Amino acid sequence: MPGRTPDLKLSFEFFPPKTEKMFNNLMAALDRLVTLQPRFVSVTYGAGGSTREKTHDIVTHIKEETGVPAAAHLTCVGETRENIDAIARRYWDAGIRHVVALRGDAPEDWDHYEPHPEGYAYAVDLIDGLKKVADFEISVGCYPEVHPEALSPEADLDNFKRKMDAGATRAISQFFFDNETFFRFVDRARAAGIDAEITPGILPVGNFEKMLSFAGNCGAIVPPWLHERFGRCVGVPDQLFETAVDLAARQCAELRAQGFDTLHVYTLNRSDLTLEILKRLGIVAANNDAPAQKVAANA
Ligand SMILES: Cc1cc2nc3c(=O)[nH]c(=O)nc-3n(C[C@H](O)[C@H](O)[C@H](O)COP(=O)(O)OP(=O)(O)OC[C@H]3O[C@@H](n4cnc5c(N)ncnc54)[C@H](O)[C@@H]3O)c2cc1C
Repeated sequence: MPGRTPDLKLSFEFFPPKTEKMFNNLMAALDRLVTLQPRFVSVTYGAGGSTREKTHDIVTHIKEETGVPAAAHLTCVGETRENIDAIARRYWDAGIRHVVALRGDAPEDWDHYEPHPEGYAYAVDLIDGLKKVADFEISVGCYPEVHPEALSPEADLDNFKRKMDAGATRAISQFFFDNETFFRFVDRARAAGIDAEITPGILPVGNFEKMLSFAGNCGAIVPPWLHERFGRCVGVPDQLFETAVDLAARQCAELRAQGFDTLHVYTLNRSDLTLEILKRLGIVAANNDAPAQKVAANA
């Protein structure tokens, strides 16, 4: 409907590029996606803090060059509390007010996650620390299909509640493909007294093998029908693209129909898939990369 102000609030996630070519790709993706006026974009923090400087540089670059609110991911892995606090203070001094606070995963050469003896052990501890540094807006992760290291679904939900009670504003979910699982998870969170925003995390499947590897690491369930659908696309890039768009657009449309007005897209630094999905949803004009409708800015 022309002129309508839709209620969809978008956020986009990027990762710090490793090479100059990847940096140029990211800048091109950013140029196109910021025109959609996301309420924020976020930049990941490499495993074990491996991208500390790059994350900082990209986050501050986004803030300064695009004016879009930028959020820095920060994890607890392998750092003292003192160092993490210093990183946070530097963000605050650079005008970054939003942190996605995470525990982080064990680096590849570790058997399992071990907190640093002088570090923040879990995300909830990091939130406590960040709040002491400054009054950051804080987003956290949540897991509709239960975090793989959780002692039980109940323990994971308790942990989620503790993170919100510690001062997080919103949770961004791990990606999932079965909306029903997400709806049930949100119901359980509401029943546990979590009233805050729970934003579904959407992963467009531009590369099926890569998605399988992510899912293996984070415990996301890949249903048989998804294997079947992507199995038909092997060696046919156009069909793969169309399948990825169709799948994500249907998932987002159903989430919106159920009243979810926030979406966080794991862009993997690609703008083409994200734009095409938003076109399919009617957020972007079908024949144009400019937004057909303005999404709610900075809401
Ligand atoms: C939106 C989003 C963005 C992400 N971005 C990044 C990123 O930029 N960089 C990165 O490295 N990773 C990132 N991750 C992955 C994340 O770091 C991992 O999923 C990590 O394993 C868990 O992080 P968390 O903050 O959810 O952990 P937590 O909330 O701390 O929970 C971790 C696990 O510990 C359990 N637990 C919590 N407290 C206790 C306790 N006291 N005793 C025993 N068990 C406990 C929980 O149930 C859960 O199983 C992201 C995940 C999401 C959903």
